[in-house]
Amino acid sequence: MIIVGKIFRIADLQPVDTRVNRLTIKVSMEISILGSAGSEAPGQNSPAFLVDEWLLLDGGTVGLALERLARITHVLLTHAHLDHIKGIPFLLDNLITMNTSCNLQILSGKEVISDLERHIFNNRIWPDFSRIPDPRQPVLSYRRLSTRKPEVIGNYRVFASRVNHTVPAYGYLVEEASGASLLYTGDTGPTDAIWKRMRGHDVKALIVEVSFPDELISHALKTGHLCPSLLETELGKMPKVPEKIYISHLKAPFRARIEAELARIPHVSLELLEEGKSFRVA
Ligand SMILES: [Zn+2]
Ligand SMILES: [Zn+2]
Repeated sequence: MIIVGKIFRIADLQPVDTRVNRLTIKVSMEISILGSAGSEAPGQNSPAFLVDEWLLLDGGTVGLALERLARITHVLLTHAHLDHIKGIPFLLDNLITMNTSCNLQILSGKEVISDLERHIFNNRIWPDFSRIPDPRQPVLSYRRLSTRKPEVIGNYRVFASRVNHTVPAYGYLVEEASGASLLYTGDTGPTDAIWKRMRGHDVKALIVEVSFPDELISHALKTGHLCPSLLETELGKMPKVPEKIYISHLKAPFRARIEAELARIPHVSLELLEEGKSFRVA
């Protein structure tokens, strides 16, 4: 059902049971919101979305109980800005300390992986976990994604697309066996390739950023982000607007203004994501 100009809070929805048996044929994916804000404030943390308890979309906030941490095997990273990666060093530290023999694979475009290797896991800022505890069986591995072909990750096909940010950045279409898919833009200003990627796919849900209110449109454009009026233009580029559109990456001081401006966009159903909640894509 499309509710014109209406914003739901994800808190109004019932949390879903996140237990999942990966051997069963899946008919839906479950997304737990670990963080969804564009800045840090009490109750508003950096973006990280946990799919089916094992696949992280971005790693800005990974403050989970240790037994849940140990189930995470893959991180699909949009870009290397600190607010999207800062939970990952501590996730790895916990995995190695627990001696789980887990391997965490970080997947992204080659420039993003290169930034992590050179600037984070470089034995100065944080250990090079790609050689620990043993270079032949490390706790961290990397996988460089291409925008030209999909990758199989667990029970999903993942299509990477470049988006328009101040550093190399990617968005992802995550498709399950039934064809239902989730599109996650990460940080982006006005863009095109990722919307073209929707063609021919059954995109059930979109997570898209809106960082600033309309008054700061020039700042949004300069920093590679969206405001509500820019989002409205982006919606017009989509081959088909998904029924569910979830909004992330709001800058905390502008949250109320952004929410009011989003409510004025006609003909779409928008939900502001709230951390600690879950939703289902089916
Ligand atoms: Zn960014
Ligand atoms: Zn960001």
